[in-house]
Amino acid sequence: MNLILFGAPGAGKGTYASRLSSMFGIVSIATGDMFREEIKRDTPLGKKVAEYVRSGKLVPDAVVIDILAQRLKAREAEKGFILDGFPRTVEQAEALGKIAKMDAIVQIVVPEWIIVERLSNRRICSKCGTIYNLRYLKPKKEGVCDKCGGKLYHRDDDKPEVVKERLKVYEKQTQPLIEYYQWKTPIIKIENNEIDAPPEKTVDKIVEKLKRAKILKA
Ligand code: AMP
Repeated sequence: MNLILFGAPGAGKGTYASRLSSMFGIVSIATGDMFREEIKRDTPLGKKVAEYVRSGKLVPDAVVIDILAQRLKAREAEKGFILDGFPRTVEQAEALGKIAKMDAIVQIVVPEWIIVERLSNRRICSKCGTIYNLRYLKPKKEGVCDKCGGKLYHRDDDKPEVVKERLKVYEKQTQPLIEYYQWKTPIIKIENNEIDAPPEKTVDKIVEKLKRAKILKA
């Protein structure tokens, strides 16, 4: 099964993608994580994309498409994959259409106040990437990952000035993709209006809707 998790920054894509990928035994691919890793390792690609990521702007399509296409060619993607944060423009969606057939788009809709609240309290493990929230999804020990003991950090682009820019970019360049996919790929819409809903509740909703739409076997 090939899925796209679609939604604004802070909608919970990464949180749900990691749970769905272990549930279905397929990989989850997050272009944002790939870029952060390259930046951390200070590779040539990392140097090329750092300024875009820091300022909340989109990395140029050609660069993202290239890195994503390479990942999809890897054997681990053969069984299926979940895309988190890709595609973000019509050009990326068109390129993806030439590489793989997508079974569904899971569109997560969250009110803006929840997004702002989530991103300011989001913390990420610097070692394994697990996502926490200081108010609603707390680690057992402050600043330390429950799973691997790694140190938690606050993404620079989760700070308020950059969040504003990311939301603007999302509305202008990414949101219109829903129209692009309207008649091409089934769209499973999940509305999330509770800030403190446990992620498992949303994951159950996604699975149920995928079954009802016969994308997933009951
Ligand atoms: P994310 O972790 O998905 O919020 O992505 C963090 C940052 O990485 C974004 O603000 C962009 O600068 C860059 N990025 C990630 N995915 C893409 C993409 N598909 N197209 C362009 N830029 C991206």
